[in-house]
Amino acid sequence: MTKKVYIETLGCQMNKSDSEKILGILETQGYKETTLKEEADLLVMNTCSIRAASENKAFSHLGIWKKLKKANPDIKIAVCGCIAQQTKEKIFKRAPQVDLIFGTHNIEELPELIKQLASKEKVCSILKTPYESEEKFYSRRQEGLSAWLPIIEGCDYFCTYCVVPYTRGRQRSRLPEDIISEAKEIISQGYKEITLLGQTVDSYGKDFGKPEITLSSLLRELNGLDGLMRIRFVTSHPADITDELIKTVAKLDKVCEYFHLPMQSGSTEVLAKMKRPYTRDEYLTLVNKIKKEIPDVAITSDFIAGFPGETEEQFNETLSIIDEVGFDQCNVAAYSPRKQTPAAVWKDQISYEEKKRRHLVLFEKTKEATVKANEKYVGRVLQVLPDNYKEQSDEIILTGRTRNNKLTHFKGSKDLIGRHVDVEITEASIWCLKGRIKL
Ligand code: SF4
Repeated sequence: MTKKVYIETLGCQMNKSDSEKILGILETQGYKETTLKEEADLLVMNTCSIRAASENKAFSHLGIWKKLKKANPDIKIAVCGCIAQQTKEKIFKRAPQVDLIFGTHNIEELPELIKQLASKEKVCSILKTPYESEEKFYSRRQEGLSAWLPIIEGCDYFCTYCVVPYTRGRQRSRLPEDIISEAKEIISQGYKEITLLGQTVDSYGKDFGKPEITLSSLLRELNGLDGLMRIRFVTSHPADITDELIKTVAKLDKVCEYFHLPMQSGSTEVLAKMKRPYTRDEYLTLVNKIKKEIPDVAITSDFIAGFPGETEEQFNETLSIIDEVGFDQCNVAAYSPRKQTPAAVWKDQISYEEKKRRHLVLFEKTKEATVKANEKYVGRVLQVLPDNYKEQSDEIILTGRTRNNKLTHFKGSKDLIGRHVDVEITEASIWCLKGRIKL
């Protein structure tokens, strides 16, 4: 009999991609995904430990699941992802309703762990290095036109605030031939757009020690695949953007004009404390180079407010960089101390109230920047790839993204889904663009 699995995914795209892999593996074990946790035989919590809020959310979900398990003791509860990798079997103490814990390196061990769970009350497996499975598993990707394709995992940078190198390990690039083969499979399933994933996607290949294997060389190969319409890549590290990569993005027709380039602070002193290997001026020079080479490129970023020791003046430098760069969109967060990271134990922590205040000020500033960035497209014609629609009165409103990743709505017909459409932009807001088909 088919069993049902419900998966809750917190955190970044890499976690979402891992969840697709987990679902693909569980399918081989007779599980089918359900969106109703009440009818699941197995509940999986894919956790994120980037901020305290995310960790609290995971345990709050587990509290709700405890009630489901009380009503039906046959339900199994699994915890995976970054909190599992960091906290290991201690999770059983905090949440005794959990039956299975597995880490970020051993998703492919899942069939074996599920078998163990049939005879053991609790199973916990956390590996320090990736599990080598003899079997090849396929991800159960979400329906739509866009698919994620992880190309590199882990990170070698060890920024002083970040847990990723501890939860995901050191940088490991996948072999180009494996990536191309998976890309072909994705295209054969009808996907039109591929987003290459990595914590520092642009450092792809550095761990091979072969200068000819880079993100640029991979993009060139992918660009040649028939049936693929668009390629994106996230998240880039400013220190790994090369002139070759900028020129490659500018040249290849399927590679979209979009860089997510976390800056984290506008102050050179704070960047040094964060162990980010660039200054304010170097970041600005990089962005200006990208903008010069790639017309209509969108640049988005991440910022942290209230990093330990950040002065008012240094915070103001972050506010001023938003205007200077003209970011298309920014994710902002108040600094959240994370276990294992150096900055968490520094004495010069900023008070909760002050971090909250700076976060809010920065958030408002980035909202203004987004509106400004979107407004400059009013009156322009942009290429949109519609992937969804809604019916409104008697009309069909199509939704898709421009090449530079702006969510765009326009009237049209369902048969345009999956086709490039030229749209004249008539309105811009913080969230999206609106327009009409250019006749
Ligand atoms: S480069 Fe990114 S993933 Fe790596 S340590 Fe720094 S913030 Fe974390």
